[in-house]
Amino acid sequence: MLVVMNKNATPQQVEAVVKAIEANGYTARPIPGGDRVSIGVLYNKGAVDHHRFSGMAGVKEVIPVTRPYKLVSREFQPEDTVIDVGGVRIGNGNLTIMAGPCAVESEYQALTIAEHVKGAGADIFRGGAFKPRTSPYSFQGLGEEGLKILAKVREETGMPVVTEVLDLDKFDVVEEYADMVQIGTRNMQNFSLLRRAGHSHRPILLKRGMSATVEEWLMAAEYILEGGNTQVVLCERGVRTFVTHSRNTLDISAVPVVRRESHLPIIVDPSHAAGYRDQVISLARASIAAEAHGLMVEVHHDPDHAMSDGAQSLYPAQFETLCKHVHAIFEVFR
Ligand code: PEP
Ligand code: MN
Repeated sequence: MLVVMNKNATPQQVEAVVKAIEANGYTARPIPGGDRVSIGVLYNKGAVDHHRFSGMAGVKEVIPVTRPYKLVSREFQPEDTVIDVGGVRIGNGNLTIMAGPCAVESEYQALTIAEHVKGAGADIFRGGAFKPRTSPYSFQGLGEEGLKILAKVREETGMPVVTEVLDLDKFDVVEEYADMVQIGTRNMQNFSLLRRAGHSHRPILLKRGMSATVEEWLMAAEYILEGGNTQVVLCERGVRTFVTHSRNTLDISAVPVVRRESHLPIIVDPSHAAGYRDQVISLARASIAAEAHGLMVEVHHDPDHAMSDGAQSLYPAQFETLCKHVHAIFEVFR
């Protein structure tokens, strides 16, 4: 349930509502809005009698929240959330493109790709330092050395950087170097990692689990918001299906559903959805046509020798084409 205060409600009136909610055994979570405060009622088991609060001084209305997710839901917050990643905005009217290699392989590789993607119009640089690999024999990433290279990329190009965290014990170091912390598909329901992300001072990029429903995904985001970190961007990256012509199946319908259900921005990763570079531009175009707020795209200057995901990595010239096309599509909605 959400208690929406009048625009001119006093801090004392807000405090009185918070106390009344707590006196009923619930948790009150005030959410400052543009011009008014709303107060979320959490940890209620079953319906809350709204008459307890609707007559209180300063209360405009009481809205029942019917969804299992609360803080991430549109019922809770009708306005789109806009996330700031090192000065780059994501959500509501912005088209934000993150691009870079699957994995940071060397300073030369990262800087070379960063110059290319920046020139083509990327806003944020991506690159894995800790890589979740199916095989223990595959390249696992450069670890902290990779994080240092990412910091160098930011310094040289001015682009903020996003990188994945795999484990709780590496969260502090990833958070120290990255402008945005990514939680990947394999960790979407790693609840201790989600709880740690809830205490992070960095924005979180939460990828959809490869077999997760939209509801499970939004519940995972709820863990982060519940912990106090409201800076979450969702990323659709394809789900497992029976097909073999692509690595995953991009669930385009997740974009309008998430936009309807949540105020959080949603971007699409066409690279991991496709698995093959010849599908990536089409999926990127479709994603922006479906009104995703941005993209995360894998790009490599020498994909044939990439240490991971070379087959789905675009050549720099292809990425330039992608940027041109998606910006043109984005203009249709402006
Ligand atoms: C990645 O973005 O590098 C990655 C591993 O993606 P996902 O978690 O979607 O597989
Ligand atoms: Mn990859």
